[in-house]
Amino acid sequence: MTIHKEIFETLNECESYFKQLAETEKNSKILIEIPKKTEPEKIQTTQTLLRGEQNILTEKSSGSENVASLQGFYEQIYECTKCSLCQTRTNFVFGSGNPNAKLMLIGEAPGADEDLQGKPFVGRSGQLLDKILAAIQIQREEVFIANILKCRPPNNRDPLPSEVEKCEPYLKKQIDLINPKIILALGRIAGQTLLKTNETLSGLRGKVHTYHGKALMVTFHPAALLRNPNWKRPTWEDVQELKKLYDKLLKT
Ligand code: SF4
Repeated sequence: MTIHKEIFETLNECESYFKQLAETEKNSKILIEIPKKTEPEKIQTTQTLLRGEQNILTEKSSGSENVASLQGFYEQIYECTKCSLCQTRTNFVFGSGNPNAKLMLIGEAPGADEDLQGKPFVGRSGQLLDKILAAIQIQREEVFIANILKCRPPNNRDPLPSEVEKCEPYLKKQIDLINPKIILALGRIAGQTLLKTNETLSGLRGKVHTYHGKALMVTFHPAALLRNPNWKRPTWEDVQELKKLYDKLLKT
């Protein structure tokens, strides 16, 4: 089996799983919709707002008062050299999405695909993340996705405390500018790093924590789901809880 065929089959399997769960959920009216592709001409409008080819603000950001402030912040930090990761990165990965997002998703650091493309959660993990969001009726364009570190650690090693110390203030500034209602941390490392704890992922899941004044929940990293299909069910439970809280907070 070629690697492409294997990836395709894995993603199809995950998509079918989340579709099946949504359809069988009692009293649920959840519909699965694969996010519609953003029209190229609209992407172009927002691309011009930022340096280079990185499309970090979605079309829903057009006219947003936060566009200018996020753009300005990007311009301030995209050449950061505060830690040694600047020497090995291909691209600085600021984050992408809606500057007025009510939901922020935060991972630990860019991986190989993200480093190459300058965007967070692309490749296999990104495609699965899109499907998970679609299963709870949220499109990627509605949320803002970022990482704790903006540059890829070599060989995808865990972030060092010294790197987190230097880079986390950028994330906090992004949170201040975007002002989401809720944050979802993706993966054990992201949860532990943000919450400054050694608690296991099992201990972090299923609770509403507080990070930088915002409600925060923790679930599996999409890459972990691709490695272990047994974690699909608990992830589904996590995102169902997230959606309930998200809907509730949107009304406040
Ligand atoms: S990881 Fe963060 S602190 Fe380190 S160089 Fe990149 S942007 Fe700067």
